[in-house]
Amino acid sequence: MIVEIVTTGTELLLGQIIDTNTPFLSQRLNELGFDVLYHSTVGDNKVRMTEVLTHALHRSDLIITSGGLGPTQGDITKEVTATLLNRPLLLDDDSVENIKMFFANRQIPMPDSNLRQGMIPEGAIVIKNERGTAPGVIIEHDSKTIIHLPGPPHELEWMFEHAIIPYLKQRFPIQGIIVSKILHTYGIGESALEEKIKDFIISQSNPTIALLAKQGEVIIRLTAKSNTVIEAEQLIAKLEEQLRQRIADYIWGLDNDTIEANIGKILAEKQLTIALAESCTGGLITSRITDISGSSNYLMGSIVCYTNEIKSNFVDVPPQIITDYGAVSHQTASLLATGIRQKFTATLGMGITGIAGPTGATPTKTVGTVYIAIDGPNGIQCKKYTFNGQRIDIKYRISQAALHMLRQYTLSL
Ligand code: AMP
Ligand code: MG
Repeated sequence: MIVEIVTTGTELLLGQIIDTNTPFLSQRLNELGFDVLYHSTVGDNKVRMTEVLTHALHRSDLIITSGGLGPTQGDITKEVTATLLNRPLLLDDDSVENIKMFFANRQIPMPDSNLRQGMIPEGAIVIKNERGTAPGVIIEHDSKTIIHLPGPPHELEWMFEHAIIPYLKQRFPIQGIIVSKILHTYGIGESALEEKIKDFIISQSNPTIALLAKQGEVIIRLTAKSNTVIEAEQLIAKLEEQLRQRIADYIWGLDNDTIEANIGKILAEKQLTIALAESCTGGLITSRITDISGSSNYLMGSIVCYTNEIKSNFVDVPPQIITDYGAVSHQTASLLATGIRQKFTATLGMGITGIAGPTGATPTKTVGTVYIAIDGPNGIQCKKYTFNGQRIDIKYRISQAALHMLRQYTLSL
């Protein structure tokens, strides 16, 4: 059972809109146990769309398309299939009624062109659109199935969840179950991580292992296919255990965990409070901490101390220290951590100072140099990091480093 997703729309090829329908459909279909083996995209052009659908009908059993069901002349998907499968387009009374109702309910006049949306290839199953005007269409043709869904994501997603999944489950009952688990790692690059678990990657079959480098971290996705959820979970658990024996030190979270939530939990559990003096990150770390509901229980506050004067006047870093060692230095970061900890009477203080670039480098300090310090019950810890990339990326990576450093520090308390 081979599944192909075909998205249509010239705007997709022009890069004007981002295709979110393909990932949505792929993810859901995979979860249901379908093998999605092809993704295709084609513009609103009869010849090329015919070509793509002909090809898809050759190599795939189930083809799901998105887009091109609208009222305009550019919306040609059903026409192309009707011609290709030799099924005339007929006006479907129920669909026309729904389209008329849609406009009547909103008290706006219906353009005549909208009636085109009620044209359905002969013999097709019509799927009512509760979120818009274009009905979806299922065409069973010999051993193949073509499903046309509307382009707007909220219409497509609603229709898929409420009508297509029940249809697929009934029509193709045994697809197995897919279960995925994500292991979040930090502190190791993608290639180094791959090197460490190379033998598992080479010999993978079920579960499969995929490494994905995301901003400032690498995630490992384990995916198992089986007949029951429990069996799939057992397969994953076994592999996870083997991986942990190798790389436990790098794994800090699972599935939808975020580092800010993870830290929040630790701080709350251990009844610790924190205050930050952020320079080059401009408050980003504090912002991420406050993304978590309940952060007021542990975050006292922070100061964005961008200039040397603010570092001295508000966080008590002696001007002489900045003159002698520089604003971006071990000494300044540590004093920022101590200063803010005292000012805000927090259990923990963090100081962050660095060069986010692209300007500001000195002969001894390159762009991306940063010092992150924590002062707390276990004394001062300060680390120097060097990050590469654009300013925004560097800022984000610094925040990642700071949050992970904070996690390590608090775990030991
Ligand atoms: P269409 O049915 O092709 O006229 O598409 C209607 C609207 O749906 C487009 O203008 C897009 O905003 C949106 N759309 C179409 N295809 C996609 C897609 N693959 N991913 C995200 N949005 C889409
Ligand atoms: Mg279109």
